Amino acid sequence: MASSAVVEEARTIEKYSPVTGEKIAEYPIASVDEVKAAVEAASQAFGAWRDLSISARFKYINRLRDVIREDGEYYAARISEDTGKPLSDSLLTELMVTALMIDHYEKTAEKVLSRKRVRNPLVFPFKKSYVEHFAMGVVAVISPWNFPFQLAVVPAISALIAGSTVIVKPSEVTPIVGEIIAEVFEKAGFPKGVFQLLQGDGTTGAALCDSDVQKIFFTGSVATGRRVMQAASKRLIPVELELGGKDPFIVCHDAPLERAAKACAWGGLVNCGQMCTSVERVFVVESVYDKFMALLKNEVSQVKAGGPDEDADIGPMTFPKQIKIVEAHIADAKAKGAKITLGGNRIDRDGQFFEPTLIEDVTTEMDVYVEETFGPVIPVIKVMDEEEAIRLSNAHQYGLNASVWTLDVNRGIEIASRLECGQVTVNEIVQSVGNPVLPFGGVKNSGFGRYHGDEGLLSFTHTRAIMADYGRLSTEPFWFPYAGKYPEMLKAFKALLDGKLPKALISLVKIR
Ligand code: NAD
Repeated sequence: MASSAVVEEARTIEKYSPVTGEKIAEYPIASVDEVKAAVEAASQAFGAWRDLSISARFKYINRLRDVIREDGEYYAARISEDTGKPLSDSLLTELMVTALMIDHYEKTAEKVLSRKRVRNPLVFPFKKSYVEHFAMGVVAVISPWNFPFQLAVVPAISALIAGSTVIVKPSEVTPIVGEIIAEVFEKAGFPKGVFQLLQGDGTTGAALCDSDVQKIFFTGSVATGRRVMQAASKRLIPVELELGGKDPFIVCHDAPLERAAKACAWGGLVNCGQMCTSVERVFVVESVYDKFMALLKNEVSQVKAGGPDEDADIGPMTFPKQIKIVEAHIADAKAKGAKITLGGNRIDRDGQFFEPTLIEDVTTEMDVYVEETFGPVIPVIKVMDEEEAIRLSNAHQYGLNASVWTLDVNRGIEIASRLECGQVTVNEIVQSVGNPVLPFGGVKNSGFGRYHGDEGLLSFTHTRAIMADYGRLSTEPFWFPYAGKYPEMLKAFKALLDGKLPKALISLVKIR
């Protein structure tokens, strides 16, 4: 009898330059069988990797940092070739932040991941309690295209330091960065199966989520995040979702206006606005509106778009489909009465360039206010006062980052504490994301879970609690037999809840 088999047609990713529009590379997409084989290899490599000491794991991680340092110029050029972003962005926001994270974890990982003794309440005499953390197994890291190096490598090294093995599935939009990530890990000489990278698209990502991985760390859109979580629910494995944002930027009545205007232009347009932590809703208190807008217009009008070899401030958009979203948001805003103060159109040249765009009179009904735009667009909303800005900031589906601008820094911190999001800066913008001591992640539709900082290692572990008794006594007060113990137990219960610990202990001894 003839047997049948599903033969997967070999598929490829075709890469076109965002600067010239020409085809520059082609990569095979990993098949479902290749995904399974990679997970099998990672499972086999797990035990030996987990059993290494943290300092032994760092021998490999540090070699990776050496590769990034020694060949940084080359890798920055490849990242820019793939994404179109300026070389300085590739160097600083992709390579340097990754190296800084390794530096930080080299100093802190041992302590963060060590077993810790915790103090028992006195009703647990003669016991020792500990909290420890252990590695999860095979971790899948699924990453997007906007910071394709950093957003794949930082979670990968965090999981590796914490003792798991890792499979990265980079975005199909930036496969050149996928290639260089595989190369830097290869050069660092990790043992076979400890780190693997699978080029592919959504089908590869879905196959990875359905495979025998023990955690999924996902960065990307809300829609895909939902699918990833659904897949994880089938095997009840932990999932971390780093999703989109619509970050508020609150200009208070006493803001340092010049600094705020420069920050707003940079925070809204850097990486061509393709950033989960982009400034996407600027709330300006009416008493300083005109002054701030004049400064902001001046800043935005000076931002130069161009390719990586044109010494420009922003590159083209990396993903052609995203341009359509940007255009749709601008058209919707215009139709609903917004004023396009600057830009608003594609730039007339080859590639995927778009004008730095400033929009005023934005209202809460517009798509550019409700949805993530993820392009070089800064929407501005005039508000009566700071209270209105706080209310509007929080009344939104997203909660990733936010910033507050005021010369009263303590009041700024108070406002920060009232914002429903994962990170807030006061008189600063975006840079907290690159500060390795601070945890990063979102709330609401921006996702959940944290990486970076101590949480960024612990989130790749399971927690184990240990309680140990010296074992010298033959029994415990609450063990069988119960007969005759209840009246004394009642006394102990009351004494404990009344805060009379010595009395409670006497009762416990009597019970025994
Ligand atoms: P996306 O959701 O389209 O794709 C992300 C990754 O998921 C890609 O590698 C893709 O191939 C993969 N994928 C697609 N379908 C899948 C499936 N069914 N199962 C598993 N994987 C699948 O997102 P994108 O367009 O690449 O990235 C842009 C989005 O990412 C924006 O919303 C942005 O805000 C967000 N983002 C968030 C952060 C953060 O840290 N919070 C950082 C950067 C980007």
